[in-house]
Amino acid sequence: MSNMPPPQDKIAPEDDNDTCPVCKSTRYLNPTLSFLINNCYHRLCSSCVSRRFTLGPAPCPYPNCTLILRKNKFRRQTFASLETEREVDVRRRVARVFNKRTENFVLGMEGEERDEAMRRRRDYEERIEKVVFALLKGGEEAQWAERELEEEARDESGIRENEERARIEGAKAKNRGEVEKLKSQLNRELAEAEVRLEGEEKAELKKGRVQVLVGSRDEGEAKRVWERERKRIVREFERKRAEKEWDVLEGFQEQSRWFVVRKEVEVSWLEAWRKEAATVGGGYEVGEYFQRGLWEAFSGLGVCVEEEKGE
Ligand SMILES: [Zn+2]
Ligand SMILES: [Zn+2]
Repeated sequence: MSNMPPPQDKIAPEDDNDTCPVCKSTRYLNPTLSFLINNCYHRLCSSCVSRRFTLGPAPCPYPNCTLILRKNKFRRQTFASLETEREVDVRRRVARVFNKRTENFVLGMEGEERDEAMRRRRDYEERIEKVVFALLKGGEEAQWAERELEEEARDESGIRENEERARIEGAKAKNRGEVEKLKSQLNRELAEAEVRLEGEEKAELKKGRVQVLVGSRDEGEAKRVWERERKRIVREFERKRAEKEWDVLEGFQEQSRWFVVRKEVEVSWLEAWRKEAATVGGGYEVGEYFQRGLWEAFSGLGVCVEEEKGE
């Protein structure tokens, strides 16, 4: 409990950043004056800190503050606002205990099971925010938050996960060869699947595979989980592709009533352009050249080649 930050109202007013509230030194008279803070976030100048705390722990000189402070716990402020400073410290402390990541919730799951896991993930994040908020508020709510922190630290599944992670790390260090073998096997499988895949899908699969490798205990589990995860990713992309292929015009094609442009017309001096990167790079086709030529030649005259020919 002694690490707990004080409630908001006991923090010093911040309207005067240049005067030490204890010895009244000011930056105006002493340009090298620097301020330090401790667990209670009460600002003291560095000479006050050495004068009061060099001989050992002593109480904070601020009225209403009951904390006993140690010299080695004084530090420079990182953020301009003490409120921000305090919130960042609280968040760091909470994040050390509430340390589950998204893949701890959803790895290897799909469909409804996955949705349910994502819901649990969101609940977890909400709980984190509540704990942070309560710690910042202080009083009874902070006591509740401390209990939440203790409970989460004790949480068996969290401990088990951390142990598993440690064991994987240990196994990796002990037997890198086996892990390398597994990796190259997965790489081979992936290479086979990749032949018919698009870039985005490839990237997604690679990401998924790395997650599986990091999160699995052994080769067998990695294979099983990866197989499910791979199928899920591929299915997802197939669904997206099917959506993309839906044609808004439902097969309707605009066609000229006046003439038919053949895709290939042999014109010797145009042949070089047909394949040139500078010509086709932007999506240009030589056929468009003919179409425009024909329009320019005949549209203004109201002449229709096919009709004229027919007569
Ligand atoms: Zn001072
Ligand atoms: Zn204090």
